[in-house]
Amino acid sequence: MLFMKKAAALKQQVEAWHAAGERIGFVPTMGALHRGHLSLVERARAENDRVICSVFVNPAQFNDATDLEKYPRRLEEDAEMLDSVYCDLLFAPPVEEVYPEGWEPPVFDLKGLDQNMEGTYRPGHFAGVAKVIYRLLELCQAQSIYMGKKDFQQLSVVRRLVEDQNLPVEVVGCTTFRENDGLAMSSRNLRLSPEARKTAVHIYKNLDFIRQQAPKQNLKQLRLKAIEDLKQYFDLVDYLEIVDAKDLQPIEDYETPQEALVCTAVHIDGVRLIDNIQIK
Ligand code: AMP
Repeated sequence: MLFMKKAAALKQQVEAWHAAGERIGFVPTMGALHRGHLSLVERARAENDRVICSVFVNPAQFNDATDLEKYPRRLEEDAEMLDSVYCDLLFAPPVEEVYPEGWEPPVFDLKGLDQNMEGTYRPGHFAGVAKVIYRLLELCQAQSIYMGKKDFQQLSVVRRLVEDQNLPVEVVGCTTFRENDGLAMSSRNLRLSPEARKTAVHIYKNLDFIRQQAPKQNLKQLRLKAIEDLKQYFDLVDYLEIVDAKDLQPIEDYETPQEALVCTAVHIDGVRLIDNIQIK
């Protein structure tokens, strides 16, 4: 596996692959990789000639300095894991390679997809996500980008960004990879104490309960009950919303949207965890 830190080196390699007519799949990450990340790389591996994975803890998407500082960093292990699933190139740049002086992204119209849920609790987060994805795509020139449904709102924002800027890239949404008890894999799980790790399973249990009940219960009441239930286990529940997958707006009846999901964010032991499940 190739390892690069410089944007210029990456560009040169990408140009060579393009010249050879090779199709590139790209998996952006912030590192501290787990099986969930690797499932994205495996899918990209199966559908492309070349796979690039980036490990970049993007300061632009952190609204909380402590969260940024505490974000786990394990580049050596990440490189080994990526090598084991036949990734072709690991791009792990310093900040100045991603955001060189004078570089500015265009203004994105995210059509409000960045406003509610994560947008409410992490102001500026999605502007930072859009900025880094736009820049990384500029560098990687990939035909496909692979992103997890675990961060469904992020996936929606990136789909919108690609549409807004008319970028020649296919956005592939990948299934959430879970631990045996249902907890969605996340780099942040590394920071959970053994006790908090056990409690964290109630996120999935709660979402799955909503999935089962949604077709037959009043959604408004179901949502309120689910929030009460989560409050028993977690220090703080930022939100739990049942939304239309198309525009991420809250829904009140199960019948109207074509696809719907339930999304939540909770805090435990100073760790913020998010998850969602498709309920329709
Ligand atoms: P992150 O490193 O957390 O920014 O995640 C990088 C990519 O991996 C994003 O597209 C995430 O949605 C995706 N991802 C994170 N956790 C999982 C998971 N458990 N299953 C599938 N994809 C995931």
